[in-house]
Amino acid sequence: MSNIAHLLALGRDYYVPVYRPREVILDRGQGARVWDSEGREYIDLSAGIAVCGLGHNDPDLVAALTEQAGKLWHTSNVFYSEPPLRLAEELVVASRFAKRVFLCNSGAEANEAAIKLVRKWATAQGRTPDRRVIVTFRGSFHGRTLAAVTATAQPKYQEGYEPLPGGFRYVDFNDATALESAMATGDVAAVMLEPVQGEGGVMPAAPGFLQHVRELCDRHGALLVLDEIQSGMGRTGTLFAHWQDEVTPDIVTLAKALGGGFPVGATLVGEKVAETMQFGAHGTTFGGNPLAAAVARVALRKLSSPQITDNVARQSAALRAGLDVINAELGLFEQVRGRGLMLGAVLQPEYAGRAGEILDLAAAEGLLLLQAGPDVLRFVPALNISDEELAEGLKRLHAALRAFAA
Ligand SMILES: *Cc1c(COP(=O)(O)O)cnc(C)c1O
Repeated sequence: MSNIAHLLALGRDYYVPVYRPREVILDRGQGARVWDSEGREYIDLSAGIAVCGLGHNDPDLVAALTEQAGKLWHTSNVFYSEPPLRLAEELVVASRFAKRVFLCNSGAEANEAAIKLVRKWATAQGRTPDRRVIVTFRGSFHGRTLAAVTATAQPKYQEGYEPLPGGFRYVDFNDATALESAMATGDVAAVMLEPVQGEGGVMPAAPGFLQHVRELCDRHGALLVLDEIQSGMGRTGTLFAHWQDEVTPDIVTLAKALGGGFPVGATLVGEKVAETMQFGAHGTTFGGNPLAAAVARVALRKLSSPQITDNVARQSAALRAGLDVINAELGLFEQVRGRGLMLGAVLQPEYAGRAGEILDLAAAEGLLLLQAGPDVLRFVPALNISDEELAEGLKRLHAALRAFAA
């Protein structure tokens, strides 16, 4: 058996089979390119699911990681170390709303902390358990822990995991009237949503929707929780997507690109809830470890830079234009939607359910691509992707889509 066949067999035999990766073994990366174990090169428009915002092997991230690796890896949260202290301050300043930060290791954990915080806050308000409802939206994705998957209003992620925790209510995304009636009973403690739904099909909040949600939250004494795990860290053209919606949230969760590829998450909390959780109320062993924090500090600084903002705008326009050219020839997409470098190409109804096939064809052409559900091709490349890398990616996409259409 060749080495690659052997490795693929290990995955088949020993992994709990919850994933279906494409049959390549990725070995190294540079910028928006990766190479597999046989030396084949790919353009990466997936960035590890919107994680590698600075591409692969960014020299500043590598330097931060290796320098910290030679000093101190872990202290747990019973002792201080400098990188997470600095990161907390930098996140508070960058967020323009937060007063405090809880550091953790992943998106689901950041949302879990947010959900627990909402409950604690509602408790402190004297709300009985039946009046601590959290409203979320159909098509959302908030992670895989039991509470986060219950917040995730998509049956396919929940089926078989019942009994699910109570206290969640689902509403159609971008439906202000439905939200209004869901909150009319006065038992809602928070509304939680993604400014651009990611896994659910790259669906942006409609213009004005977040402001409407904020108004309803204010009217009913509820908190606004924004899950910016995918949309944050510069992905949509501003450091936080909700800046474009001109709302001030009470809680924002981050993960994915926060560590540029190193696992780290954060729950940012505003004035109203900054003192809600006190000593002993929540915790984590690894969260805010010095290695993750050292890397995240550099990622935050670089992803906040005007160079990144400018490049996101430039490459977003180039990607949209490239997709339009392809679509003018092949007519596969119903629409292209999203913001910045978080774009989705929605397949025409006659190709519904076939995004996975296109991903296979793309890999065969040397292109790493994602889907967002069965009907949407998702483009979330590195935010510092170059003109050349994007043009080459579009060329390979064109070839893959020609093969698909044929
Ligand atoms: C990926 C994602 C999560 C879950 O993050 P994990 O790190 O996989 O736990 C939660 N919310 C959104 C919007 C995401 O895109």
